[in-house]
Amino acid sequence: RIADVDGQVNAFLHVNGEEALAVAAEVDAARTAGGAAAEELHALAGVPIAVKDLIVTIGQPTTAGSKILEGWHSPYDATVVKKLRAAKMPILGKTNLDEFAMGSSTEHSAFGPTRNPWDLDRIPGGSGGGSAAAVAAFEAPLALGTDTGGSIRQPGAVTGTVGVKPTYGAVSRYGAIAMASSLDQIGPVSRTVLDSALLQEVIGGHDPFDSTSLKDPFNNLVAAARVGNVAGMKIGIVKELHGEGYQAGVENRFNESLQILKDAGAEIVEVSCPNLKYALGAYYLIMPSEVSSNLAKFDGVRFGLRVLPKDGPMTIERVMGATRAAGFGDEVKRRIILGTYALSAGYYDAYYGSAQKVRTLIQRDFDAAFAKADVLISPTAPTTAFKLGEKLDDPLAMYLNDVATIPANLAGIPGLSLPGGLADEDGLPVGIQLLAPAREDARLYRVGAVLE
Ligand code: GLN
Repeated sequence: RIADVDGQVNAFLHVNGEEALAVAAEVDAARTAGGAAAEELHALAGVPIAVKDLIVTIGQPTTAGSKILEGWHSPYDATVVKKLRAAKMPILGKTNLDEFAMGSSTEHSAFGPTRNPWDLDRIPGGSGGGSAAAVAAFEAPLALGTDTGGSIRQPGAVTGTVGVKPTYGAVSRYGAIAMASSLDQIGPVSRTVLDSALLQEVIGGHDPFDSTSLKDPFNNLVAAARVGNVAGMKIGIVKELHGEGYQAGVENRFNESLQILKDAGAEIVEVSCPNLKYALGAYYLIMPSEVSSNLAKFDGVRFGLRVLPKDGPMTIERVMGATRAAGFGDEVKRRIILGTYALSAGYYDAYYGSAQKVRTLIQRDFDAAFAKADVLISPTAPTTAFKLGEKLDDPLAMYLNDVATIPANLAGIPGLSLPGGLADEDGLPVGIQLLAPAREDARLYRVGAVLE
């Protein structure tokens, strides 16, 4: 299937066919032989998976969608990759992304954009457009993404797939190349809610290599997805996360989802999170600040690309400058500059400090909302997939696509996006987002199973 369609979709940066087939053959042999070895196989053993190319893997390149890492191989596996291998899930390859996961359309990849399988002239979302497109185009039944401001959920929404950002700390970040460490989270991409639950149970759990990893087991997700019952649950519509600025067809599918939940016995309530209007602003200060620090390690010495200055003295600063000028794309440079400015002496309190205060206010808004509702609901993105090139020259318009997904990262709470049907205007997929309190990921799967 990859050979047939990926020439058009461009979901994969690297295909790992031989190794994947070898793992599949091993699982087949164990199943055929039967006995204890067969019984010990995980439910997902033999089910192939694609991995976002921001997550490091032994034996395959990891580029982060950037020229600066072209040809680089990690000497170690990310914890999630180790867990996939332990579950005997064949790793199909590495998927395309916006460079260092910065973007909402996968157009900022140094290796060409991924296209939306629903309409090849449209974006597959971002930054994890490759993982979502691979699942939507039936190139892989499962994929891994990373979500810093929506990069699992928004691609899920615009490609008609399921995408989950777990509670911050529920899945180890060890081996996910850091974009903004206080916001990043690895999570599943799949076609059904149950598949994501199965996958989150495989990749989750405590990891001593990630100092923010939670001790909670999160082993109740599959059971919750199988229960799929909302009778007596309170579902909160977030006033600030729909309505003005949202496409009519998106609103229509959203209202339909509310009706499905009502019919299934849920009580729909309205909640307000007044500080969400500052979420995008706070995110675009905190995220670039962390980016500017995390990306300092790409210095032309330790990893990947090294560009020597054409003439003049060969100092470390000049090698670093030449390498970063040639290796990073415009969007990455824009964010490093923004972050460096926001953190600089004299501006730190006004920008970074204020943004952190807003972050606390947003967390409190969610605490108050979850006192009134078990789960919150909103559209995942304000629009369906836009055309390739449409927002490329207008970073602010691109950033606005993340209004509904960013708050969960700022608050550390889990979020799930699932297909809510097709928009009337353009026949393209609409995503419905569910949010739950931190550590209550199971609620997302329980409600999600009713909606799909
Ligand atoms: N689109 C958002 C951004 O550009 C989110 C990125 C992400 O979640 N990795 O920052």
